[in-house]
Amino acid sequence: MDKNIDWANLGFGYIQSEYRYISNFKDGKWDDGVLSTDANVTINESAGVLQYAQTCFEGLKAYRTKDGNVVCFRPDLNAKRMADSCRRLEMPVFPEDRFIEAVEKVVKANIDIVPPYGSGATLYLRPYMFGSNAVIGVKPATEYQFRIFVTPVGPYFKGGVKPITLRVPDFDRAAPRGTGHVKAGLNYAMSLHAIVDAHNQGYNENMYLDSATRTKVEETGGANFIFVSKDGTVITPKSDTILPSITRRSLMYVAEHCLGLKTEEREVLVDEIKDFTECALCGTAAVLSPVARVVDHSKDIFVAKDTENMGEITKKLYDTLTGIQMGRIEAPNGWIKVIQ
Ligand SMILES: *Cc1c(COP(=O)(O)O)cnc(C)c1O
Repeated sequence: MDKNIDWANLGFGYIQSEYRYISNFKDGKWDDGVLSTDANVTINESAGVLQYAQTCFEGLKAYRTKDGNVVCFRPDLNAKRMADSCRRLEMPVFPEDRFIEAVEKVVKANIDIVPPYGSGATLYLRPYMFGSNAVIGVKPATEYQFRIFVTPVGPYFKGGVKPITLRVPDFDRAAPRGTGHVKAGLNYAMSLHAIVDAHNQGYNENMYLDSATRTKVEETGGANFIFVSKDGTVITPKSDTILPSITRRSLMYVAEHCLGLKTEEREVLVDEIKDFTECALCGTAAVLSPVARVVDHSKDIFVAKDTENMGEITKKLYDTLTGIQMGRIEAPNGWIKVIQ
């Protein structure tokens, strides 16, 4: 294991690793793919990605488990979601079985920087694809590059599990109808202004509402919401314009099947969140981050029952999910891919 990294104090940043996986698409097919030590990408000035943002990505993690294995959590769902993103952006699909093989290869090549069990850090994997040849008329590129790099990361929000605060912004979330299911930089680029503004005003993140009516809760910049109602039901917003988080789908399964809780995936009105007892953000990066307060133009519209600590049900969900990922709790069938 790399002795130069201070695992316990890692933030969520980029640390260059030795190896990344690269495969190129040309003349209608993907090449065999290689591991490379070159962290730089060289492309034409008119590449499809640079002019028309033809690119999408994924995010998943490798964990070192209690018994010393290195595992990935449900990489098949990342492979499938990336294929969906590619189809929506008129990009060629990187075959799902090859996606999983590439994940395995790149983690194995960088096994020395998979953080130790119990350190609180994990290895984040960033698969992505972009149009690499020159286009100037508005049309899809004909050549693409698929890459996966890795970087060891700590918690996404500073302070670990301490509750964060959100606000409802004046800005709509970037993802317009139809692109909500695409995990793509184009949606993130349009959200940067809202997030910088939120930070300037002292909030950690935004609670985006549906752009059509601005009455329903959507998600935050890069994570879905989970709420708990007074009677202990775990509720998550149902919407066509949010990214279907793998963490959220897993947590809802865990709530129902491992913890025996009542669950609902349904439209959530902004007006009803004042009655909820717990709120948290979920995603690969955020894991499950508790929310203390949500503010709408200086008015509190949600205040957690406990604003200092993770709520009771959020904590149970967090412990069960991370227990499964770190090998302390038996995983539902097919959730854990051992890297060997
Ligand atoms: C990646 C992402 C999420 C979280 O999805 P996970 O699969 O749980 O990591 C949520 N919302 C958006 C917009 C995202 O890009």
